[in-house]
Parts: sequence; structure tokens; C-alpha cells
Amino acid sequence: MGYISVAIDGPSGAGKSTVARAAAAQLGYVYVDTGAMYRAIGLAVCRKGISGDDTAGIVSVLPEVELAIRYEDGAQHILLCGEDVSEAIRTPEIAKYASKVSAVPEVRQFLLDTQRDMAKNGNILMDGRDIGTVILPDAPVKIFLTASAEARAQRRYLELCEKGQQVTLDEVLRDIRQRDHQDMTRAVAPLRQAEDAVLLDTSALTLEQSIQAVLRIIREKTEENR
Ligand code: C5P
Repeated sequence: MGYISVAIDGPSGAGKSTVARAAAAQLGYVYVDTGAMYRAIGLAVCRKGISGDDTAGIVSVLPEVELAIRYEDGAQHILLCGEDVSEAIRTPEIAKYASKVSAVPEVRQFLLDTQRDMAKNGNILMDGRDIGTVILPDAPVKIFLTASAEARAQRRYLELCEKGQQVTLDEVLRDIRQRDHQDMTRAVAPLRQAEDAVLLDTSALTLEQSIQAVLRIIREKTEENR
């Protein structure tokens, strides 16, 4: 029997990773956060002191990049040349680097086989921007998980306030719109909904409702394909 792949794509801040992680745990699928791979490459580039705009510099780092994914108690850990960088990649600076390196075709090519291979070894739920369109175009379940820019900004704003950061809702909204624009207009693998993806707008849903909605879509689709 073949393994089931679930592709979840959507813009930044739609709650994809939280929803995807929870849904994967309930189904017993392996959750793969592909954004973490772009972030790890961004971190490698940043540590070398190379600018995010230096495409040739970014490409020159790739031969030294060794990525590995490990799972501990179901949580994904990402290793860069043997070092666990799961925490180090979660900074705003590295998010910006990730966004820059992800627009470089050689970087996307570098990750393509790794991501495809992961889907060959078990049932997986993979989240990213181009999983349903480029990485796993034959995935039996594809979900485009989104929310309005305003709803995403509001959630992100509350998160940052809780962390004690001084930001305004307007600034957060502007950042989100800028990231959306970058992700949707880049030349390679731009963010877009695959034709056969189910659209799930979580603007008016709670986290729990979003998880239930994703589980419902996965169950419906896997039963249809049986
Ligand atoms: O999802 P996350 O914010 O961790 O992604 C980091 C960056 O990597 C994003 O800016 C996004 O553009 C990029 N990315 C991508 N393709 C993916 C996953 C993430 O281009 N499959």
C-alpha cells in the first residue's frame, strides 16, 4: 500500500504550522515543516556573513550545507551540519534570510529531492508554500490554508504583545502584506493555490476549529481515494 501525503500550503501567519502539527499528531502522520529547511539555509548564509541579496554567495554556501531532520517525541528538530538549530532559526532576522534564500532557484532545487524523499518513507503532512504545486503535485490531499491579512496581523500582533515586543498593529499588517507580496510574486515556485487544493479560510475560526476542519478535509479526501 502506498503512503498518504497531505500538502498544506498558504501564506505566512495563517497558523499553518500549528494546525498542521496538531492534525499530524492526531492522525499519526509525520509532520514536515519545510519552512524550517529554508530557515536553516538562511542561518548558514547569515553566519557566513553573506548578504541575503548576494545570490552567488548564497549558492556558494550550498555544498557545505548538510541538513538532517530528527524527530523527538513527535517534534521536528532540524540539524545543520550536526548542530540542532531548531531554536536559532526562529528569529525575525533569520525569517528575512529564509525569505531571500527561498527565492534562489538553486536553493529550491537543493531541497526538492530531500522533501520528495521524505514522502516516500511514510504517511506525511508537509507544510510550505509550493508543496501541492511543485514538490508533491500528486498528493491525494491538498489544502490551501489561509486567512485575511487583517486576521493574520491581529493574531501575530497579540503574540508579539505577549512577548513584550513594542509594535503597532499597522506595522505588523504592513510586514505581512510585504511578505505576501514577496512570496506570491517571486519567479520560482510562487505561493499559489493548486487547482485541486481545498481552500480553507481560517479568518473566523478558532485554532481548534481550524484543526478539526483540516482533519475533516483529510478524512473526506482519503476516503474518496480509497
Ligand atoms: O513558513 P516559514 O515562515 O518558516 O518559512 C520561511 C520562509 O521560507 C518563507 O519566507 C517562505 O517564503 C519560504 N518557504 C518557501 N517554500 C516553502 C516553505 C517556506 O519558499 N515550501
